[in-house]
Amino acid sequence: MRVAVGGLMHETNTYARAATTLADFEAYQFAVGTELFSFRGTRTELGGFLDGCEELGWEVVPSLYAVALPSGLVDHGVFEALVDRMADAISGGQRPDGVLLALHGAMVTTRSTDADGDLLARMAALLGPEIPVVATVDFHANTTDAMTDHVDGLIGYDTYPHIDMYERGREAVTVLADVLRRGARRVVAHQKLGLITPPQAQYSDAEPLRSIMEKAHALETAEGLSITVTPGFPYADIDSLGLSVVVTSDDPLSAKQVAETMASDIEARAGEFTFATMSVADAVDRALRVDGPVALVDSADNVGGGSPGDGTAILAEWLARGGSGLVVSLTDADAVQVCFQAGVGSTAKLMVGAKTDERHGLPVELSGSVRVLADGRYVHRGTYATGITTHMGRTAVVESQGNTIVLTENRVMPFDSQQWLSIGISPAYCRAFIVKSAIAWRAAYGEYAREVVDVDAPGICTGNLLRLRLSGDRSGMIRPKLS
Ligand SMILES: [Zn+2]
Repeated sequence: MRVAVGGLMHETNTYARAATTLADFEAYQFAVGTELFSFRGTRTELGGFLDGCEELGWEVVPSLYAVALPSGLVDHGVFEALVDRMADAISGGQRPDGVLLALHGAMVTTRSTDADGDLLARMAALLGPEIPVVATVDFHANTTDAMTDHVDGLIGYDTYPHIDMYERGREAVTVLADVLRRGARRVVAHQKLGLITPPQAQYSDAEPLRSIMEKAHALETAEGLSITVTPGFPYADIDSLGLSVVVTSDDPLSAKQVAETMASDIEARAGEFTFATMSVADAVDRALRVDGPVALVDSADNVGGGSPGDGTAILAEWLARGGSGLVVSLTDADAVQVCFQAGVGSTAKLMVGAKTDERHGLPVELSGSVRVLADGRYVHRGTYATGITTHMGRTAVVESQGNTIVLTENRVMPFDSQQWLSIGISPAYCRAFIVKSAIAWRAAYGEYAREVVDVDAPGICTGNLLRLRLSGDRSGMIRPKLS
């Protein structure tokens, strides 16, 4: 068997102002042709595809794999050019017997609100009805009929933090192998709920999703199905918002029935998708009073949801109270430049953070000693996408009034503890640390936190979804209230 392999992933936050360009894909993960094989051994979907194909003795036709950090609308011309390159590689030589694609499922371009659906429709048209396509999607896919109509399997992550990318890649290979062996197409049933939930309420180790996923797994075993629940990505003002249930089966009737039953069970629990949060002042107060380390979760400035990662509201409050023992990372290329010019051991006067826009606090003035200057590269050693390399860009560690401020040129998702360990910082010894994330940070730093406080700071990934401006009749969708 010859199987084409590729991927194009972006989680688009339509509230972020800057468009996402080709440079954003090239700066994060970008591989063409045989470069895709460099992902062998990583615990990603692509790593799972490659191992699965090798085990079955399949010949891999590598196409294109491009991933950008979550951010604003993808330039439609860039999207089309990337899909063209993928399509050319897949259909350029001898036609493949099947196709495996790693998608996110929440990509919005300057012209399309369902770029993933467009991509899969384009592949189906290119390949014709004989060649099966199986795709993987993120837990935060805003799944559409266009996505499920054009595949023989849509396999989503079961976990958040997403620590099962590799396993879902392997599952996609298993589904494709079954389709190819039996020569029978699979049906993918899709049931959508008008239920929009904040990421903080989507933790898969907590209710309600823990028991929802347990039920899905029990049904999968009993019925021989593949069930995916995509709670969805709420930070997009598009029609396809909301939780979906997707069932892949060779029996259309049972696929539809299981999808409907699962969806109505989840709808009955809509009110459980909630979480507790604290004002900035109360959160800082709490962290200064209790034994740390306290994780101050700045989910409104969630880099993994498209925020800038330079929000200062919590840091400003901490410094105003005279707090010490805080660790925080901020995106700030200007401040990094000042530190590199000053050099290690010197004192730098800085205005840090809040430079992307006016929605994430104000720049904070501080003076501190430059402790570390680094190139900011680290390899993921934890459970999230183990083996991939993250580039923070040039990185400076500044100590100010007993607080540790990490400044980076690039936006960084805090999903692996090497982010701090690689530059000599252990969160085990601080009073509090701020994470620019909602849930996924737990894969990196969950073990260090003696207490977790979700902070209601300002930002475009606010957990209070009632603050989001949704256009048209989307304002009637269910958005559970916070406790
Ligand atoms: Zn996700």
